[in-house]
Amino acid sequence: MPENTHSRPRILSGMRPTGRLHLGHWVGALQNWIKLQEQYESYYFVADWHALTTHYADTSEIQDNIREMVTDWVAAGLDPKKAIFFVQSQLPEHAELHLLFSMITPLGWLERVPTYKEQIENLQGRDLHTYGFLGYPVLQAADILMYKAAYVPVGEDQVPHVELTREIARRFNHFYEPVFPEPQALLTPVPRLRGTDGRRMSKSYENSILLCDPPEEVNKKVLSMMTDPARKRRTDPGDPDKCPVFDHHKVFSPPEVIERVNRECRTAEIGCVECKKLMAQHLNRFLAPVQERRKTIEQDPKYVWDVLEEGTQKARSVAQETMREVRSAMNLIPAQGELSEVGKD
Ligand code: SF4
Repeated sequence: MPENTHSRPRILSGMRPTGRLHLGHWVGALQNWIKLQEQYESYYFVADWHALTTHYADTSEIQDNIREMVTDWVAAGLDPKKAIFFVQSQLPEHAELHLLFSMITPLGWLERVPTYKEQIENLQGRDLHTYGFLGYPVLQAADILMYKAAYVPVGEDQVPHVELTREIARRFNHFYEPVFPEPQALLTPVPRLRGTDGRRMSKSYENSILLCDPPEEVNKKVLSMMTDPARKRRTDPGDPDKCPVFDHHKVFSPPEVIERVNRECRTAEIGCVECKKLMAQHLNRFLAPVQERRKTIEQDPKYVWDVLEEGTQKARSVAQETMREVRSAMNLIPAQGELSEVGKD
């Protein structure tokens, strides 16, 4: 049987092309995607149009960012033989469906999306009062419904977007014909992994450890990491639950090390420097094979583009089929069968 058949439920998820990925991407998405590619017919896409909703003014790095990000996807263990990778902007069908959905989506639905106001407040220095930014959940609905995905793997904060997608599907099916199944959010608990300064890990905060950071860089970053702020002296007992170093231990260290740090931090038996060195050692062990695969991928400059081209072709055949159904349901083209009647009179 071919790798991708319709006998498995379909999932779809995307990532904005932000370049080389950090451990937060691994924990928050990649790790899960790698598991899901075994069970589901998986569509993973480069959300380059979504990147434009916030980073529209300077597009000079998009191509590099796509290449670096997809290199990390494969280096981390996503397999283009098991999942379909594609680039959103290579499929104008997404823009068409977005436009058609925008006709039926009430403005109030978009203004209600919690991430809308939040991002406008948080992303200082950028004017997000644009048509594209308000409408990006509609574009997201088009991305998901185009492939009639049964599930959408998301974090808690994205659940309202999936709910909006379901509402748009319902409204479309109600006005025209039942074309779209309503997708479900596939929620997976994600372990917390704060950046080196204790804030959410993000490239813009310069607090992230990258999947491609060499061991010396990892060691340096880990040694500079914030710890439990209450543990000022070596002899003070600490609380590992308040420490970003312990977040990393929980993801990358073996159970006996996690257990030891959890115990010895609280009694001040272990010092922060030793604890950090231990964590860096296990983190580097995890990163070594990822970086080996990255080196192999980088030897062939065409590899990423070939993978994306192949996946985009596959996605295109599904997208074209969906758009034929959509246009027909909306009477934008003659209904199926009517064309063959034309000219018979
Ligand atoms: S011993 Fe480890 S877990 Fe405890 S505060 Fe120091 S770095 Fe954090």
